[in-house]
Amino acid sequence: MAVQRLTPQPQSNDVPQLHERVQQTTCCVVGGGPGGMVLTLLLARQGIPVTLLEAHTDFDRDFRGNTISPAVMELLDQLGLAERLLEQRHVKIHNFTVQTGSGPLVFADFTRLNTRYPFITMLPQVHFLDFLAAEVLRYPHARIIMGATVQGLIEEGGVVRGVRYQSHDGEHELRALLTVGADGRFSRLRKLAGLQPRASSPPMDVFWFRLPRHPDDPESAGALFRFGPQSLLVLMDHFDYWDIGYIIAKGSYPQLRAAGLPALRRAITRIAPELADRLQHLTSWQQGALLSVESNHLAQWFQPGLLLIGDAAHVMSPVGGIGINYAIQDAVAAAQQLSVPLQTGRLSLRDLRAVQRRREWPTRIIQAIQGLAHQRIVRMALASAEPLCLPRLLRLALRLPWTSRIIGRLIAFGIAPMRPGDRESPQLVP
Ligand SMILES: Cc1cc2nc3c(=O)[nH]c(=O)nc-3n(C[C@H](O)[C@H](O)[C@H](O)COP(=O)(O)OP(=O)(O)OC[C@H]3O[C@@H](n4cnc5c(N)ncnc54)[C@H](O)[C@@H]3O)c2cc1C
Repeated sequence: MAVQRLTPQPQSNDVPQLHERVQQTTCCVVGGGPGGMVLTLLLARQGIPVTLLEAHTDFDRDFRGNTISPAVMELLDQLGLAERLLEQRHVKIHNFTVQTGSGPLVFADFTRLNTRYPFITMLPQVHFLDFLAAEVLRYPHARIIMGATVQGLIEEGGVVRGVRYQSHDGEHELRALLTVGADGRFSRLRKLAGLQPRASSPPMDVFWFRLPRHPDDPESAGALFRFGPQSLLVLMDHFDYWDIGYIIAKGSYPQLRAAGLPALRRAITRIAPELADRLQHLTSWQQGALLSVESNHLAQWFQPGLLLIGDAAHVMSPVGGIGINYAIQDAVAAAQQLSVPLQTGRLSLRDLRAVQRRREWPTRIIQAIQGLAHQRIVRMALASAEPLCLPRLLRLALRLPWTSRIIGRLIAFGIAPMRPGDRESPQLVP
């Protein structure tokens, strides 16, 4: 996608021309992932001049997570966008199932959630982001500049006043009242601001790859988890393929590669024999991607003129597949707290602190729960020479219908989800 394709026709004096070396906006959002894109959309809807800078020239990145949670669907519903999004080809995941010695066990049930969207929507992230970007560009005071890599912060008197970025036609400055770093787990803005996240050490990494789905594969299979020797396999149902996560011990990817693809194919066949007839499609390591699993959080998400959200502020473990939801929840909180200060031009540190205060504790609680899953299940599975047999007590607990509903709710909504139609944020919805 070229830069110009996402640049709307200027219809307002607020919108600078791309060739200008120094541009001005009210809010500069760095990073066109789910967090940055939703924040840009919410601010644009409030009539706030906003420019999003995205380093890549398109949104087409494989293995970035394709899950859209019910919490996000409810947000889109309130913005009047949910039904249109669902017109795109997608799969609905109704539950997460784990294979135990005594058969499959549903451990996360979304079907009983009190929502119009009791399922996880599986939609390639590129389609989701393209959809949101098109929506952003309906607002003349909003702009998305693709292929714009931020390289520096503009600081004056200890306050961040915007960024310096590189695009195809050279260096630019974008000056803004507020700069938001939504630039992901390797956040450049976080580094430039000298902020250092505190990290825990999850015991695993994940090798993601894809295999074709066959017509006789079970329909609406959802997400299936299976234990193997020193490994765990996750199968995510897409319409015509399976997204497969092979979970291995932290740092053991070099050994996996050294053992070779035939050894990997044999290991997968042992855990999921029904895939044996298509593993020949996996012919190169380049067909997959390694996710080096991290979990971290910043002690402080802001500085004068600067706010960090999403993965830039806290990388979530892949347990539960909630990183996208949490990035978007941050965006809603930021839009809710900051719309008025941005509209009036009076932005204080207190406003930025309020965003962190609203979102930090739900994030930390979920990270703690993920940490328990790492220690109690993943670590044991990766240390076990035989496929892990879940402890009896855990199996009994998982068989209780309430357990799978509670886990389903946690995955679907997290803790204390932002509800844009609530008293908290009435101004965000029409
Ligand atoms: C392999 C993998 C699988 C995952 N699977 C899932 C899943 O199934 N479900 C789920 O919920 N989450 C999943 N996640 C996590 C999820 O992708 C993230 O939590 C989520 O995307 C965070 O959103 P974000 O907007 O904060 O940042 P990101 O989505 O990381 O977006 C950051 C954006 O910033 C841009 N950027 C970076 N630096 C600059 C710069 N200097 N200038 C301009 N732009 C810049 C990047 O190009 C990127 O587009 C997965 C992550 C990975 C790596």
